[in-house]
Amino acid sequence: MSQPIARKSHDPAFLGEAGGRLGRSLEKELGTRTGRALGKLGLRTVGDLLRHYPRRYGDRGKLTPLRQLRVGDHVTVIAAVATSDLRPMRGKQGAILNVRITDGTDELVLTFFGRHSRTLEHHQRRLHRGATGMFSGTVGAYRGDRQLTHPDYETFTDLDDEFAAVQKVDWPIPIYPAGASIASWQIEKAVGTVLRTLTSDDVPEALPEAYRREHGLPDVMAALRGLHAPHTPEEWQRARRRFRHEEAFVLQTALARRRAATLSDAATAFAPREGGIRDAFDARLPFDLTAGQQEVAAVLEAEIAAPVPMMRLLQGEVGSGKTVVALRAMLQVVDGGGQAALLAPTEVLAQQHHRSITGMLGPLAEAGMLGGADEGTRVVLLTGSMGAAARRRALAAAASGEAGIVIGTHALLSEVVQIPALGLVVVDEQHRFGVEQRDALRAKGRTTPHLLVMTATPIPRTVAMTSFGDLETSTLRELPAGRAGVGTTLVPADRPRWVERTWERVREEVDAGGRAYVVCPRITAGENGAGAGATEDGFADDVSAELFALDEAGEARAPLASVEEVAALLRQMPALVGVAVGEMHGQLPAEAKDAAMADFAAGRTPVLVSTTVIEVGVDVPDATIMVILDADRFGLSQLHQLRGRVGRGTKPGVCLAVTGAHPESATFERLTAFAATTDGFELAETDLRLRREGDVLGASQSGRSSSLQLLRVLQDADVIDAARAAARELVARDPELASEPGLAQLVAESVDEDAAAYLERT
Ligand code: ADP
Ligand code: MG
Repeated sequence: MSQPIARKSHDPAFLGEAGGRLGRSLEKELGTRTGRALGKLGLRTVGDLLRHYPRRYGDRGKLTPLRQLRVGDHVTVIAAVATSDLRPMRGKQGAILNVRITDGTDELVLTFFGRHSRTLEHHQRRLHRGATGMFSGTVGAYRGDRQLTHPDYETFTDLDDEFAAVQKVDWPIPIYPAGASIASWQIEKAVGTVLRTLTSDDVPEALPEAYRREHGLPDVMAALRGLHAPHTPEEWQRARRRFRHEEAFVLQTALARRRAATLSDAATAFAPREGGIRDAFDARLPFDLTAGQQEVAAVLEAEIAAPVPMMRLLQGEVGSGKTVVALRAMLQVVDGGGQAALLAPTEVLAQQHHRSITGMLGPLAEAGMLGGADEGTRVVLLTGSMGAAARRRALAAAASGEAGIVIGTHALLSEVVQIPALGLVVVDEQHRFGVEQRDALRAKGRTTPHLLVMTATPIPRTVAMTSFGDLETSTLRELPAGRAGVGTTLVPADRPRWVERTWERVREEVDAGGRAYVVCPRITAGENGAGAGATEDGFADDVSAELFALDEAGEARAPLASVEEVAALLRQMPALVGVAVGEMHGQLPAEAKDAAMADFAAGRTPVLVSTTVIEVGVDVPDATIMVILDADRFGLSQLHQLRGRVGRGTKPGVCLAVTGAHPESATFERLTAFAATTDGFELAETDLRLRREGDVLGASQSGRSSSLQLLRVLQDADVIDAARAAARELVARDPELASEPGLAQLVAESVDEDAAAYLERT
């Protein structure tokens, strides 16, 4: 998935671009003390502070006479300070400030707690005897006194102040994400100071005027005021809507420009050739393409036949037949004298693609060899762990153009790999590849290659538009006929009879000629549970590892199942006497992985205990049952991917998800959703709803927070749609964004950030 575009305005690039006011340091603008305190929240420039949005808004309540105060009411009062008393807490660390305020008849106590007397001194200074002010908070009671604890307040120096304050009573109070170094009301004050002297020359306007008018959005200055100092709830609501549009517009413009830049490159046109390898392949195919496959195939055929680079995302459930369609596209390129590269996220997958593609091609992949077809090509595999000799041979075949199809992992990206006639790049499971990696492969050909990205992770439409906005999308919705599908059952780990039955089911499947996967979250017993959910090829995994390390009650859980322990256990289990058990995980050497998969596929070890390394793409048609241990450790989409490994043949698949999660817990509910549907799109949406929005755009993959602060990819589909259409239209009309300098500036920053984020990860 492409990296989230974060805005980090203290970057030198931003300073250079924006210069001026927004780039000014807060220490200079507001003084060292406030500047430093804000710095602890990561806010260094005026721009940072303005983009530090309130988390929510409170209200001051009505202006209430002291006499009428009732405990529990949220109130605002105007009163004068009668006494103030600062002292250390008795018997404890810390200090307490008690301020008695009065309206002349009745009294109220304000209480502030602090770590030291020092931290309370500024309150004491402001709340000196005789000072008047306006105080807001919830009324509490302590030893017979009514009191406000840590009230929001401001003091008046004269009657004008008081008058102004009274007017403000109805205004919403912005409540900011704050920290130990600085409180929300202090941030509010700091923003107020900045806003007072800010002019529209200081702040770039990213949204074209016509767009703002069409959608009834305030300009950026009005929106900043509405967000930070609203007079009515409608004002902050309008302001937030504007910034949602802005976030979407900047992102969509960046994507539209990326797309436009690629489309303006020349690509080689590969017209389909009658009587070529692709035709021969079609003739060999033991099945008919589904209607969906035919439709996608026709689109790919036409796009590859044009001199404009194809940029397409192909979504489809595991087993929906994406690879077959992609292979046909690769063969069209080979027929036209070009080469195609297939990039897989792991070695296991690259090897498997190599195996299945050479298998499907048969003699067509044996050009120049005895028994090879007259019309044919060669398929080579290139991975990081290959021996030197094999690697040299593969490199030579790719460089000479002899190999029409080159399959590999990110080792393909290395500069020593030459694929001179590269005409098509197929990326499998691209959510694990960055845009730059795509580009590195793209740069290998003489012309810009056509690009096909395949993903089995169902992506809701708006997420696709946000994450893959520079690609057009095709979807395979139906599985090929004759696919039996998978039924899923949850197995509570604390029900011995159920667990026993689980292993009996495994035995039954094996006896009937099937294969069984047993999936564990860890490799060895000794490992620390935290982070064990990470896939072993070094890519950050689902949020699951973080989210579900503790059970619902926050208690540490029983140790997680590990491949080594579970395999040892199964080998001694009465239900599985005489059944060979294999092991598979990402830390095995490549040959061992290969051997383990081959033994499993051939039935020499019909039970394979594995980590999630089998998650994507692995294809063993005889696999009929999968047992997932500690299923609660995995994210929904990951579970769905895993389950897609079984039921790929004509026999129905069984998935047994074992979990210790409490039946009333949210985790169990998630698993229930998993068991209830096999619709990947539905699960993807459920998954999204269960996560924080920020994770959706890749924060969960990169560990970074997303700059999409306000935009919500699911709820704001209308905003994303509108911004995308307008951004594309604008870029078509004005590719350099000359007419929209403010937008150009924000887009440039976001693209810089994108590149920076990529560099940080490598
Ligand atoms: P994906 O890449 O989407 O996971 P594949 O292309 O690997 O799916 O197809 C999965 C399996 O289904 C393969 O064994 C493939 O040969 C088979 N297959 C693909 N298309 C069809 C079809 N139209 N009819 C029957 N089987 C098919
Ligand atoms: Mg596949």
